[in-house]
Amino acid sequence: MGYMPNENRYESITYNRCGRSGLKLPPISLGLWNNFGGEDVLENQRKMLRKAFDLGITHFDLANNYGPPPGSAEENFRRMMEKDFTGYRDEMVISTKAGYTMWPGPYGDWGSKKYLVSSLDQSLSRMGLDYVDIFYHHRPDPETPLEETMAALDLIVRQGKALYVGISNYNAEDTEKAIDILEKQGTPFIIHQASYSMLNRWVENGLTDLLDKRGAGCIAFVPLAQGLLTDKYVNGIPKDSRAAKQYIRSLNEKDISTEVIEKVLQLNEVAKNRGQTLAQMALVWILQEKSVVSALIGASKVSQIEENVKALENPDFTADELTRIEEILT
Ligand code: NDP
Repeated sequence: MGYMPNENRYESITYNRCGRSGLKLPPISLGLWNNFGGEDVLENQRKMLRKAFDLGITHFDLANNYGPPPGSAEENFRRMMEKDFTGYRDEMVISTKAGYTMWPGPYGDWGSKKYLVSSLDQSLSRMGLDYVDIFYHHRPDPETPLEETMAALDLIVRQGKALYVGISNYNAEDTEKAIDILEKQGTPFIIHQASYSMLNRWVENGLTDLLDKRGAGCIAFVPLAQGLLTDKYVNGIPKDSRAAKQYIRSLNEKDISTEVIEKVLQLNEVAKNRGQTLAQMALVWILQEKSVVSALIGASKVSQIEENVKALENPDFTADELTRIEEILT
């Protein structure tokens, strides 16, 4: 029998408005950077996507290069869309990005209009979609004029290939310039995709203030520090974890330092006293920061998505908890 989404999927989640835009996002969104590529089991991917949607997660984040191999996450996403979600496109917010190396030669990387426009065309064709909801410039390009990169985003919206546009990995200063340019061009800037977690707090030094002031939202990626902000690494590296996977080079043994594990153990105690797992506490903690509308998680198993969404049952912190967390983190 085909997939029938849970009828109660919208009952327990409160969706957050993204800045001053009309778009609302779930407080937890699912990213397909890892575990959705050509080397991963499609049936597990399908189970995770279905479970996420059943739990009220409406936002799915991709990029041209997600895999491995690059492009394969978008191709797999198409397979799952066609089989399970054809009737539900209007209930989903799908994003993709371009900015990192995608194809050889001078036009397959960075931030030229040439690259961004053709990369989105390729992404749409891999995903079998007419448009994405959000298209991001994935990282700043030090050589292409910002006006040109923003003109590409503006064009893409006017062409109807994306409904909204955003940027990712830009510092606060360049973000402000990008917002000013887009405003002049007439396409509003609504979202910044930035790394943010208890172990990586750079956005608190100006970026979230700026986004708040300019009416934009922040979607926080890698909110669990790729799994470090769970209790999975406290007794070594489990065989099925990201750090153990040879083909993923983003999390290594050296990232799991004694200093980090010491913090994780202390945070775990605070989480237990709140009746949460560390993963759950880490997610609701970032959602308190101004302008942060969604925690963009990754997952390798259905059970992780279930556990992480349950975080929303206990979103509030006491002053004592916040003080203790601050002591541990600083
Ligand atoms: P997370 O920090 O959420 O890490 C996810 C990983 O943590 C999972 O794959 C799993 O790893 C582990 N995990 C998750 N939940 C649990 C749990 N409850 N208990 C134990 N382990 C858990 O984020 P990601 O690094 O996956 O990134 C999320 C998304 O952010 C990406 O998919 C992408 O969309 C976006 N992103 C954007 C970037 C950008 O430049 N704009 C860069 C990077 C990511 P395991 O495999 O060990 O089980």
